[in-house]
Amino acid sequence: MSDHDQVKMTEMNYDKDRPVAENPLKVEDLTFRDGHQSLFATRGRTEDMIPVAEMMDEVGFWAVETWGGATFDTMHRFLNEDPWERIRTLKRYMKKTPFSMLLRAQNLVGYRNYADDVARAFVERACENGMDIFRTFDALNDYRNFETVVPVIKEYGKHFQGCICYTMTEPRMGGEVYNLEYYVNKAKELEAMEADSICIKDMAGLIAPYDAYEIVKALKAAVKVPIHLHSHFTSGMSPMSHLKAIEAGVDIIDTCMTPYAYRTSHAAIEPLVMTLLGTNRDTGFDIKHLAKINEILEKEIMPKYKHLLDDSKVSIIDINVLLHQTPGGMLSNLVNQLREMDALDKIDQVYKELPRVRKELGQIPLVTPTSQIVGIQTVNNVLFDDENERYKMITDQVKDLCYGLYGKTAIPIDPEVQKKALKGYERGEEPITCRPAEVLEPELPKAKEEVKGLAVDMDDILIYALYPVTGKRFLRWKYGKEDPPPETKPRTLEQVKAEEELIRKAKAGLLVEKPSKEPPPKSENLRTFNVFVDNEYYEVGVDEVGGSPVLSYIQQMPAQAPVAMAPPVAAAPAAPAAPAAPAAAPEEKPAEAPAEKPAGEKPAAADTEGTELKAPMPGMIVRYEKEVGDEVSEGETVVVLEAMKMENALPAPVSGTIKAINFSSGDSVAKNDVLCVIG
Ligand code: MN
Repeated sequence: MSDHDQVKMTEMNYDKDRPVAENPLKVEDLTFRDGHQSLFATRGRTEDMIPVAEMMDEVGFWAVETWGGATFDTMHRFLNEDPWERIRTLKRYMKKTPFSMLLRAQNLVGYRNYADDVARAFVERACENGMDIFRTFDALNDYRNFETVVPVIKEYGKHFQGCICYTMTEPRMGGEVYNLEYYVNKAKELEAMEADSICIKDMAGLIAPYDAYEIVKALKAAVKVPIHLHSHFTSGMSPMSHLKAIEAGVDIIDTCMTPYAYRTSHAAIEPLVMTLLGTNRDTGFDIKHLAKINEILEKEIMPKYKHLLDDSKVSIIDINVLLHQTPGGMLSNLVNQLREMDALDKIDQVYKELPRVRKELGQIPLVTPTSQIVGIQTVNNVLFDDENERYKMITDQVKDLCYGLYGKTAIPIDPEVQKKALKGYERGEEPITCRPAEVLEPELPKAKEEVKGLAVDMDDILIYALYPVTGKRFLRWKYGKEDPPPETKPRTLEQVKAEEELIRKAKAGLLVEKPSKEPPPKSENLRTFNVFVDNEYYEVGVDEVGGSPVLSYIQQMPAQAPVAMAPPVAAAPAAPAAPAAPAAAPEEKPAEAPAEKPAGEKPAAADTEGTELKAPMPGMIVRYEKEVGDEVSEGETVVVLEAMKMENALPAPVSGTIKAINFSSGDSVAKNDVLCVIG
């Protein structure tokens, strides 16, 4: 069959013989949120959504997910973009299709429960800025954590979609906790809270096709509101689960545009459109229109992000999800953390310890932030415990969980672990049983006070209230009080092409590695020359030292590829391999704190005598609890280090006086960096 014949046939099928479906399947597109969050660490920029936004608005989606989840964190932390502005900008291009966001209930778009005043203000501002549908979930499925945000959503006349996080005790909804009855009861709870729709949120791609059928049938029978299935592709089962859910009468399915689909993301829309063509669930979508959008995404947008895709594996499914029933994102997160700590050989121990830690911590679902909480604690146990003692290094978040600050766990927390975690816990050693936010003091007045003179409106204040360290830094960038670092700038297609050319040369063996050399400081005698070689132009600085000219720096001008011919003298080896791909951030993984540290920033502490407190893992300094000159006793917290969003209180290794503090709040540190010296 020639291409021409295929086109003719396609036209006939789509435009002439296509009946209108009785009950068309509704589709939510996740390309602008979960798609890039799952595949490339939530680094998608607003400017790369605009080229297709109007076309996406024409498809006929039930909703487009444009916000929430990790977007808020990533945008202000890595992209130098105001998260609120994204909603307003996209609204100008997408006037018909409702906007949906992922709201982590009382966790909002962060990783802990915020106080009620912050939660209310956040949802109000999201409504005012243009959000229409609030897909709301709680990591523990403890709906008391919905009690503050839901009335605000309702007050604004917006759509409250209640989620049930899908997790398992045993495969096929077997075992004690997470069985069919559990899900039916949760759906009834949500209906009683006036949910406008109910979403089965399968963040790890765990739901098996026949279970999807059974659960959708049961939920359709138990409640009146529409049922929505959100199932990641991670394990490879989701397209089958989609089809079985459709047969069971599911109302809405989530998909992505093809370039943002599969792997840890979601199944693509186009195969689903074809699958349902001419049936009573036909979406009615124009596949040729979808193809046009894909063409733009594929050719003009994705090349800028390709370097962020995880190309370490050929397989597009994660077999570990089938074997270990843990979210793919969580496992790749653990692998990265172990790798950074030179402990990748311990991965099998982590697999073994993980279900044990999860059970001890109340058999909680694994989704942000609980997947990180269980994951990091598991890594800590594997790395720091010995045969005499378990839970030697308990993260602050596990302490909070044991206190009840996240909510009620599915089964009680192991009493021994709980007791150990709460020993000396600042809020009290007796866990709470009330709605967690009831014990939280209002946080807005303090936040307002702390960003006085910097924050202009409530949107700014909320960025700070949610992310004090990186939020404040963003506000300083936003109002020109500090220059944003170059890594916050977008990549251009020209840069991508230049890099591809370099990689091609490297593969062809055309690049020669040059030894790197520390440049001497430039003196006031520096003279600059323009040098032209064939068609290339260089700016060369010549600095006369002790009579003989010394080459001080060479900088090639941007007309040509920047590294191949004339690397800056102090640069890393001149032949770059493919740019290192950061770990893709699959679903519900928080944006990673940058582990790298700008060269030359690390203060020297070589001349201070005493015992060093070293960073046990790479991370970001949240705060020092002591100052130079303070007395500390062994075991007392000196510094709080954030690693993968978990705060770790690092204790003093010895008693003594703080002699030196080498970093400050917001600094990134590498493993074994000396954080302070105690003498
Ligand atoms: Mn998701």
